[in-house]
Amino acid sequence: MAKDGKGVKRTYEIEIDKTLCRSCAVCWEICAPDVLGFQAPLNKAIVVTPQACTGCRLCEWLCPDWAVVVRPKTDATAEAVA
Ligand code: SF4
Ligand code: SF4
Repeated sequence: MAKDGKGVKRTYEIEIDKTLCRSCAVCWEICAPDVLGFQAPLNKAIVVTPQACTGCRLCEWLCPDWAVVVRPKTDATAEAVA
């Protein structure tokens, strides 16, 4: 969870297309808050701690196979945050 310049808490959803993922490890290595990980036996990328996502979108930009999409959650999809 991250805050914008107005102190509003934002949450993000990370979508990984496992049919496109080629297990290169770029996304989970680049993700500073360790939101992403991988799942044996194919080591496809998975989302582990979505609540820690800052929305930096590095995973989306650096994935060589366009397998990752990061979006801010809308009011309708956002979880209640204290
Ligand atoms: S960067 Fe893309 S291809 Fe590489 S492991 Fe992550 S999702 Fe898969
Ligand atoms: S947007 Fe940034 S913080 Fe969120 S999963 Fe991707 S690399 Fe990690």
